[in-house]
Amino acid sequence: MTDAKQQVLKEVFGFDDFRPGQADIIDTLLAGRSALAVMPTGAGKSLCFQVPALVLGGLTIVVSPLVALMQDQVAALRLAGVEAETINSSRSREDNIASWRRVAAGETRLLYLAPERLMTERMLTALERLDVRLIAVDEAHCISQWGPAFRPEYEDLARLREIFPGVPIAALTATADATTRKDVVERLFGNQAESFVLGFDRPNLQLGVEVKRTWKNQLLAFVQRYESASGIVYCLSRRKTEEAAAFLAENGVKALAYHAGMDKQLRDANQNAFMTDDGVVMVATIAFGMGIDKPDVRFVFHCDLPASVEAYYQEIGRAGRDGQPAEVQMLYGLDDIRMRRVFIEQEDGGDDRRRREHQRLDALIGYCESPSCRRRLLLEYFGETMENCGNCDLCRNPVELSDGTAEGQKILAV
Ligand code: ADP
Ligand code: MG
Ligand code: ZN
Repeated sequence: MTDAKQQVLKEVFGFDDFRPGQADIIDTLLAGRSALAVMPTGAGKSLCFQVPALVLGGLTIVVSPLVALMQDQVAALRLAGVEAETINSSRSREDNIASWRRVAAGETRLLYLAPERLMTERMLTALERLDVRLIAVDEAHCISQWGPAFRPEYEDLARLREIFPGVPIAALTATADATTRKDVVERLFGNQAESFVLGFDRPNLQLGVEVKRTWKNQLLAFVQRYESASGIVYCLSRRKTEEAAAFLAENGVKALAYHAGMDKQLRDANQNAFMTDDGVVMVATIAFGMGIDKPDVRFVFHCDLPASVEAYYQEIGRAGRDGQPAEVQMLYGLDDIRMRRVFIEQEDGGDDRRRREHQRLDALIGYCESPSCRRRLLLEYFGETMENCGNCDLCRNPVELSDGTAEGQKILAV
């Protein structure tokens, strides 16, 4: 299942997983559509255009407001073996000319420029002759007068979409304010362009975790709360997806199975039914989901522990893309943890890698066993801080009041 972006992530940047939002934004750009990425500082916005720049080939123009930022990014990219250049006022004329020669010769993948330098007629005319495949506008909120850091020289960037028609534009910002966001999209993408806004936090997802007991009954009870709603159920093994789908079907749920071992025709038919019919519950392995963009998935249910927090986030992210409330529930038990540990031990790679994998698993277990707000914990894992969400199982039903504890107290009191 490694695709080009995954390969670049690993081989060029040395990371195993995309962070929340990254893969979706990258896919959008690779499909030739413009995308606005709203992510907190430190979340990893740069990779959202650096990875597609390398997958697409040709030239990517990166607009950045500060010389120091450009220098840092170019240095980091070069260290990773990527042909990146910047032309800016802090460098000598000779250096800038040498950089331009490499750009003009088609050797450069990413060219970093300040907006005022990019938007000169001379630069634009020269760039128009080159194979420009992507434009990234970093700190894109600077284009908005409503934003916290308006820069007049950014305003002119609104012409880019006409100068480079058909070239997707990536706009990156940490400013989540809705007015600014709308303004950025209108100015950079115009009205006709499809835009794609994906932050990090998904407030419409109601998160929950339950201790695994009789998983089939737990699954059925959950699914039966939803009538004619689309949902995804993830199972660890192929056999289990078939078993769960059959069990749900016996109990009147429109459930279909999906895994990589199935006959392709049946698999495609099932996927088609999920996409087009109402109320289909897809019971699948993680083979299902890549590139699936169905807006009205109302729930994602994990029968088994996912591989990592990153994987979990990506899988639950398939729920509620329309912004309407959606529920995600995970079952987990000791057997899941044991199984995952065994998987890690069986993987190739050295002790360092295994140690890292065990630590990643620990983080996921920490999430399952969290005593307080799950959404806060999840976002903290990715570097964002927030208040308790008020929407997850633990916010709705704090641990002190839960059955387990009350039971324990009863036992202790006897
Ligand atoms: P932002 O622009 O959103 O503030 P950066 O793009 O500067 O954030 O990235 C912040 C840090 O996160 C960098 O050190 C980067 O290497 C790291 N990073 C980004 N994406 C990933 C990932 N998928 N896995 C691990 N580290 C990542
Ligand atoms: Mg940044
Ligand atoms: Zn919460």
